Amino acid sequence: MSFTALVVDKDEAGIVTQTIQTLDDSRLPDADVIVDVAYSTLNYKDGLCITGKGGLVRTFPHVPGIDFAGVVSQSSDSRYKAGDPVILTGWRVGEAWWGGYATKACVKADWLVPMPDGMTPQHAMAIGTAGLTSMIAIMALEDHGLTPENGEVLVTGAAGGVGSVAVSILSHLGYEVAAVTGRPETADYLKGLGASTIIPRDELTEESKRPLESERWAGTVDAVGGEMLSRVLKQTKSGGSVAAIGLAGGAAVPSFTVVPFLLRGVNLLGIDSVNCPYERRVVAWSRLVSEMPFDRLEPMIEEHDLPDLPALGPAILKGQVKGRALINIKSAAS
Ligand code: NDP
Repeated sequence: MSFTALVVDKDEAGIVTQTIQTLDDSRLPDADVIVDVAYSTLNYKDGLCITGKGGLVRTFPHVPGIDFAGVVSQSSDSRYKAGDPVILTGWRVGEAWWGGYATKACVKADWLVPMPDGMTPQHAMAIGTAGLTSMIAIMALEDHGLTPENGEVLVTGAAGGVGSVAVSILSHLGYEVAAVTGRPETADYLKGLGASTIIPRDELTEESKRPLESERWAGTVDAVGGEMLSRVLKQTKSGGSVAAIGLAGGAAVPSFTVVPFLLRGVNLLGIDSVNCPYERRVVAWSRLVSEMPFDRLEPMIEEHDLPDLPALGPAILKGQVKGRALINIKSAAS
């Protein structure tokens, strides 16, 4: 038996290559459950793994793909049997373990969640790691008291994968959503997802020496980090929270100050979907079934095939991918 995969390799000179290969099943990593992958997605981290940047992949050859949905074909774990639909996100799959850019994946049963009733693999991956992370961030903001009555909620990196889903869920839950984007041409798209205000990226990336600014946001889902995170903290209302998800805008935060925490009781919540406990993951997925029905996702989906990935990797690192890039893996199996 064989499977088809995107294989990323690095030669002795450090040159990274990406090729679609047919491999024997014996090349799969050794674990409990083999899944016939139907769909995977493209995330910022996948861009790093496809291009070999950021030091995430230590062992080559490598199969990236940090999330996937499909059907169990073999299992030695009693929790899963052949035919069960499953989802995988996190656990460094696609970074330190062969991932979802392959028609077959072999993973530990502990890393899987059963697909919730009413969800298909395509629907699950249209949500994917980006959507799960958005939901975990919104749950963290709610745990810290956020309700639609508290005021406007900000989403940064809004036209990206995490941002698009966050805008959509928040507006569905009745929040007034402001969306920050560096791509003015995405304004209509973001308004279609439910954003009421579009804020140009420059407005929040210019360095500010002030320790506090006018109070604007009841809460923020931040996918950008960098200077934008510092500016957002300074603009957060008393007792409000910022869920920090990513650093697409860089790790350095030049004007960071503790003043918003001391004088306004602002909360900075770190969001880690990779090691998110199983119970919280299951709650997040079941909320996504009801709060992100497939028709709400459709405007943000672009579907691609396995051979498109070598070009898509560099594109997402340049912030050129809009919404959710869904990768149809089952088309490579037929
Ligand atoms: P995308 O590339 O899809 O989205 C990132 C968005 O950030 C871009 O679309 C762009 O939005 C904005 N952006 C990009 N570069 C810059 C820049 N230099 N300055 C300001 N804004 C910028 O990535 P994802 O949505 O997949 O991931 C976003 C971040 O979240 C990444 O850092 C990723 O690693 C992280 N992440 C973290 C997870 C966790 O568990 N904590 C899980 C998933 C992702 P626009 O064009 O609208 O300005």
